[in-house]
Amino acid sequence: MLNLTISLWKLVRKRRQIQLLSLLFIMILNGIAEVFSLASIVPFLSVLISPERLWDINIIKDLSIYLGFESPEKLILPVTLFFIFSVAIAGFIRLINLWLSTQLTASIGTDIGCETYKRAIFQPYTVHIRRNTAEIINLSTRLVDTTVSFINSSLLLLNSFVLGLFITLVLFIIDWKTASIAIILFSSSYLLIARTTKNKILKNGLLVQRLSTNQVKILQEGFGAIRDVLLNNTQSFYMDKYQKHVFPMRKSEASSIFLSMFPRYALDSTGLILISFLAYLLFLQTTNNLYIFTILGSFALGAQRLLPAMQQIYGGWSNMCQQKASVEKVINILKKPIPKKYYKKTKNALQLKEKISFKNVYFKYHKNSNYILEDINFDITKGERVGIIGETGSGKSTLMDIILGLLEPTKGKILLDNQDLYKLKSYDSILKWQASIAHVPQQIFLTDNTVMENIAFGLPKKEIDLKKVKNAAKEAQIFDFFENSKYKFNTLVGERGVRLSGGQRQRIGIARALYKGAKILIFDEATSALDQNTESQLMQAIKNLNSSITIILITHRLNSLKYFDKVIEIKNKKSNYISLY
Ligand code: ATP
Ligand code: MG
Repeated sequence: MLNLTISLWKLVRKRRQIQLLSLLFIMILNGIAEVFSLASIVPFLSVLISPERLWDINIIKDLSIYLGFESPEKLILPVTLFFIFSVAIAGFIRLINLWLSTQLTASIGTDIGCETYKRAIFQPYTVHIRRNTAEIINLSTRLVDTTVSFINSSLLLLNSFVLGLFITLVLFIIDWKTASIAIILFSSSYLLIARTTKNKILKNGLLVQRLSTNQVKILQEGFGAIRDVLLNNTQSFYMDKYQKHVFPMRKSEASSIFLSMFPRYALDSTGLILISFLAYLLFLQTTNNLYIFTILGSFALGAQRLLPAMQQIYGGWSNMCQQKASVEKVINILKKPIPKKYYKKTKNALQLKEKISFKNVYFKYHKNSNYILEDINFDITKGERVGIIGETGSGKSTLMDIILGLLEPTKGKILLDNQDLYKLKSYDSILKWQASIAHVPQQIFLTDNTVMENIAFGLPKKEIDLKKVKNAAKEAQIFDFFENSKYKFNTLVGERGVRLSGGQRQRIGIARALYKGAKILIFDEATSALDQNTESQLMQAIKNLNSSITIILITHRLNSLKYFDKVIEIKNKKSNYISLY
């Protein structure tokens, strides 16, 4: 657990480390204040019962007379005020302590959340296509939350530890014999409990961490295929699945909560029993009632403070055990450095002068799988209109991802104006290439925003050029539809664009590619959802785009390739130029 906390500490920013240290200072102050208010109970009680005792102490007597309190009775008011003052200060410091630690966990929580998200999103495409989004969503939400509460628990533990130490000190000063008995009794009880519960709590934590991903997964599956769920009436299947996965998780959580809280109730009674025993023993030993009451009074207060402090130490520790598995997962992610190249940004798009060439390009998705594409060779000259055809599953979309620089060829070269795209291994050339190219994928992902934001994708609203949006919409044959609708380009498209037709989604995708103003455009089955009339209008518009723009169109509809300069067919993993006429 200590190692885990240290790893977490190392991952936290310098600034937060300093803030944490200042918090530790406040915690110590808090401990001192607590002790002060605890220690002042003895003089307070003595003065109330017999002010003469205090008067007998020379310094206090001299000080009192100097301050104008001439008799022992007159000491009651200042001593009361002093007591009230120290209690108030202690309360105030406690509040500051609470406020600071909550604020700090909020900042650290945000930091960790951002860092985790960063590591999830700054990954090459090959990583993204391999993993499950449920896992990432769970990681960035639930597991990050757990890490934040882990930090909270550790702060609480530290705080209670400091406090406990100071309280112990005071109890020792008051009466070291009874203090030792109380402390040995309570701490050994807690140690014994901790030893017995540890494994169970760790196991619970691991189970919760494992099952929590399933929760998101089941939700996503059910809603992702909601049409099928409704049609086949399989809601209850998903409900059962959800229940089956969530119940054990909740049960483990409940079990850990019980294990972390039960000693409090058990030991509360033990504390009371101890105090009654102590009272009995004291009565046997001495007849000095004043002595007995002050001792008992401060012990009652001490136990009232010491026991909760011990409970909080134990509670913090057991929470940390429960959260361990989740925190480990987050730490493992945070430890992975992001290669610097992914942070790079480029504003300069590559200016293609002559041609793109594929030279003996081979590609496979995994080391151990078969090649999807073999020995692909073609040239695409700047400004050409090129069609790519091939049976379904032949690798056209894969080829598009290779052209886009999202997937790296397993073998072979991609030459841009005779420069090898991957030769320098510098990410820069790929970024420049990607800045010059726009694509319309087979499945267009629209965000639950306005049409305008979807066309000018990834830009903050105030940076969007509405005129450009409208032009792109015109070229994509979707302008009239939105211009005549109630909210025009502020129409909300719904999650993944559910409020639009397939053809409208496609044309927004095309407008998005056109808005980017790229010099190379790739369309993957971009017109498959359109009727013939709209398609031919769109094809006309695409063809009429500036002749310096290179267009690559993947399609099944051969007649959309009329007047294209070149058609490449992917067949048996290989490429051929073919003539349609
Ligand atoms: P369609 O015309 O149906 O869109 P396509 O020509 O675009 O087909 P691709 O999507 O490129 O075909 O797929 C080519 C082959 O690569 C398929 O056999 C597919 O199973 C495989 N494939 C696609 N994506 C992956 C992936 N992420 N991991 C492993 N194999 C993949
Ligand atoms: Mg495809």
